[in-house]
Amino acid sequence: MKRAIRVAAVAAGLTLAACARDTEPDAGPPAPPPRTLTIGIKFDQPGLSTRGADGKPQGFDVDTAVYIAGKLGVTPDHITWREARSEQREDLLNSGTVDFVVASYSITAGRQQLVSFAGPYLMAGQDLLVRQSERGIDRPEDLNGRTVCTAEGSTSAEKIRRSFAYGVQLTTRDTYAQCVADLLTGTVDAVTTDDVILAGYAHEHPGTLKVAGHRFTRERYGVGIRKGDLDLQGRITAIIRMMIDDGSWRKSMETNLTAGGYKPLAAPVVFNAPDKAVEPGDPTTLDPQLISTTKAVAATSNARDWEGFRSLVCPENADAIDEIVFGYTPQFDKGLGSEVKNAGYTNTVTGVTQSDPNTATFVFHEAFTNVPEKYRQYFKDIDYTGNMVRRDGSWKLCSLAADFVEP
Ligand code: GLU
Repeated sequence: MKRAIRVAAVAAGLTLAACARDTEPDAGPPAPPPRTLTIGIKFDQPGLSTRGADGKPQGFDVDTAVYIAGKLGVTPDHITWREARSEQREDLLNSGTVDFVVASYSITAGRQQLVSFAGPYLMAGQDLLVRQSERGIDRPEDLNGRTVCTAEGSTSAEKIRRSFAYGVQLTTRDTYAQCVADLLTGTVDAVTTDDVILAGYAHEHPGTLKVAGHRFTRERYGVGIRKGDLDLQGRITAIIRMMIDDGSWRKSMETNLTAGGYKPLAAPVVFNAPDKAVEPGDPTTLDPQLISTTKAVAATSNARDWEGFRSLVCPENADAIDEIVFGYTPQFDKGLGSEVKNAGYTNTVTGVTQSDPNTATFVFHEAFTNVPEKYRQYFKDIDYTGNMVRRDGSWKLCSLAADFVEP
């Protein structure tokens, strides 16, 4: 019953434009009315999403939105574009003002309480934009005593508040374009947000502005949708995979971003329904055994149950996998002693993609808790990406990659 209601809500979300027509007896069956979509995007992020002189939006986010709409059966002339500034995205989604948001919108655990995401479709990282003449600012640690601008409601503002608040003068605006205007006039010393956004502004002001070039967070851009709309989430996630697989992703990346000098990270692993798919019984095509094995891998990976972990790993790759886990788990071997004895960790599976009955990719996030601030640098969060193979009916972890991320 619940599921039926959800599907109905999706159908209603894709607004049927009212089509008044006279019903003439021999006009044949009426043509289906054109479907329309309202999509939230940024209006002032060159390379990702701007409005040209003719008012038409362009950029990588726009291409992604148009591709998704196309696969949902909606042509570009039936899309209504709505500005979605950083702080407005959750409200626009939950009030039903937009059908979905494609606006440099990072998937975070906090936001997943309020909205749902499909994707991710792009990886980026927070960085700094400064004047070309600036010599003193290269990394966020250099911002002590300086003024940095970012958009309210962004993960970029969050990060500065949480990690660098002690010395940095943070000032926020509604949009990054307003911050850039202030950087050009000298009102602020730096602008901070994702490198992919900053690269667009640097490209617009050659010889005047530059990106520092040291990503200090990892941002996974998702398509924001109304909370709990699993049907739309699954459909858009599948469409994003298609966009990456058929070359459209790369083409748009080259036209809009690489051509302007941006050095992108690889295309992301696209999850099945990132905020939901890891519970058995979800309306996805995932094998429940796969789900339970990925959870078991995550639970045993931290050398606490070594035998258990080894039993889940492909024997021929077990040593290589051990090395990765040891390499990324220096935290318990630092001789930090009693001061960190209360430190703990949580491992959460954040996404599983099953490409065929016998292969799958999954990502799990390891977060450390109860770590004294001065030892935080030894306890960076880790994202593990694992490849799973099903052999003789049971799933095994056959390769693993790891990445430090900011909590
Ligand atoms: N990706 C970050 C976020 O979602 C920063 C960019 C933005 O504000 O759109 O907050």
